[in-house]
Amino acid sequence: MGLLVLATALSVALISAMAMVLEGRLGAVPTEDRFLAVHGHRCLVGLQDVDISLTPGWSEYWRRLGEEDCTSGSWLAQFRERGQNLAQYKAVDPNRAEEDSYLALAPLEGLEDEGAEALVEPVRQFLGIYFQTPIESGDTLPLPEYALHAEKGARGQYDAQLLLDSLKGSCPDGAAACLAFTDRDLFVPGLQYVFGLGHFHNRVGVISMYRLWDDRFDPVTGRDLAPADPEPLRRALKVAAHEMAHEFSIAHCAHYRYCVMGGTNSLVESDRGSLMLCPLDHEKLRWNLHFDPRARYIELSAWADAYGLHPEAAYWRRMADDYPGFANAAGAAR
Ligand SMILES: [Zn+2]
Ligand SMILES: [Zn+2]
Repeated sequence: MGLLVLATALSVALISAMAMVLEGRLGAVPTEDRFLAVHGHRCLVGLQDVDISLTPGWSEYWRRLGEEDCTSGSWLAQFRERGQNLAQYKAVDPNRAEEDSYLALAPLEGLEDEGAEALVEPVRQFLGIYFQTPIESGDTLPLPEYALHAEKGARGQYDAQLLLDSLKGSCPDGAAACLAFTDRDLFVPGLQYVFGLGHFHNRVGVISMYRLWDDRFDPVTGRDLAPADPEPLRRALKVAAHEMAHEFSIAHCAHYRYCVMGGTNSLVESDRGSLMLCPLDHEKLRWNLHFDPRARYIELSAWADAYGLHPEAAYWRRMADDYPGFANAAGAAR
């Protein structure tokens, strides 16, 4: 969830205000239908064309988002995403990685949850492969008390925007992007909670492990489901990849269904999404980081198999089959 959230949250506030003005005329119509009545659409309008070529594997797997994805309670129904194709991405002057730059993953102070701590090393390894960039473990970063809203959530919540402000300037010059992690619950004004937040240009982001176990205990039997289930790891990887991609100025995906760069409103919506970059976001990252797609896919599939993420491993193996030799708008890999 990036800074776009703040911009869109603002426009949501405006829309709400407009809706209130129009309420008398439209009566007690459900919110989304009211939006449709006012604007003539629910979401996904004004998107620029997808400006890349698809490999056969991509065409096999990926489907475009449509109005039918703007279901009640979904991110797309709540926020009016405008999308970002490759040309638009290049035009925002994205944060670029230098050839010898690296990534950093660092804890915020006060990490207590052992389950969360156990995820840190796999997340670090995964990010290094996903972004095809060396990744270091950073020193513990301060967790400023002024960001804590003790009255929010079950155990207090930290304002992720204030945390990002506090982290600004903490990412070393040689690092392309830095990500902090915490086991505390995060929110941004206007949203009940967030899994993380990544800044588009300041090279800082934060992810929280707090919500990854929300469904840990079976509601009927009370059985602890976590040990046998790779789901908390899969969720942590999704959040980490999503926020770090934001740090490379990649916006929320409005083009492809289940892309890791899609905004999510809940654990259920996050679980429905994948760990994978859609073709468009893949090409943005490839253009930025100059990686060899085939080498990346092969490394990802081997790593995913080792951690029990077999559907992802199968996808990445299939994608590796499409390379080498597929030139596209992003140009040849270096
Ligand atoms: Zn996001
Ligand atoms: Zn995408």
